Amino acid sequence: MTPVNADTAFELGRTLPALTLDARLVRIAAIAHRAVMTTSLGVEDQVLTAAIAGAARGIHLATLDTGRLFPETEALLAETRVRYGLDIVAYRPRAEDVEDFTARYGVDGFYGSREARHACCHARKLVPLARALKGADVWVTGLRRDQSGARASTPFAEWDGERGLLKVNPLADWSGEDVRAYVAAHDVPVNPLHARGYPSIGCEPCTRAVKPGESERAGRWWWERDDTRECGLHVAAKVPAYASS
Ligand code: SF4
Repeated sequence: MTPVNADTAFELGRTLPALTLDARLVRIAAIAHRAVMTTSLGVEDQVLTAAIAGAARGIHLATLDTGRLFPETEALLAETRVRYGLDIVAYRPRAEDVEDFTARYGVDGFYGSREARHACCHARKLVPLARALKGADVWVTGLRRDQSGARASTPFAEWDGERGLLKVNPLADWSGEDVRAYVAAHDVPVNPLHARGYPSIGCEPCTRAVKPGESERAGRWWWERDDTRECGLHVAAKVPAYASS
């Protein structure tokens, strides 16, 4: 099998748009030595999970259990595992990292500054993400271009040089309506919070419902007033892609 690299990203960017979702996932699984999809249990990730269960079970599934998730998200994880018979591996933060954060900023110190918020996301998301991606050469995500201004240029595939893997976004060109239609057609289980005004769901203390006219991610870290806020998962890695367990 040929190693994946920046040329693979170019090739996938050229070929994936013409394929169905199932065919996209089959193609992604075929070029990977180890492909891992990270799911937040959000609706896009539920679509990918359902499609992987049906067409590309060689893609491994992982989720980041930050310890601050909504109870609805935790229940959906259990339901999804049973529904699709998939081993969705949960990666949790290291106790010492959470203790260090709490000692420095307080348990909810992420409200206090951008620096503190990034430190919390680093401990609870980025370090576990590195463990989830350990040994993977392909990382599959549910990013879509119209989720927010910051995601408007999401490519189908890109070489993540910092993490040393190919990041593939098979839903890059899907609209919110495409997602809703797939969920309805395939009876995909989704988080009940979506129906209560939460199009994007992260940790409970950092997510609120959106108001009419707001972008899908406006409810994430709402106290930070710009449209580029992210948790760091989908920007170049700031931690090694091999962090120890
Ligand atoms: S979303 Fe909030 S609680 Fe979750 S890791 Fe980031 S700052 Fe911490």
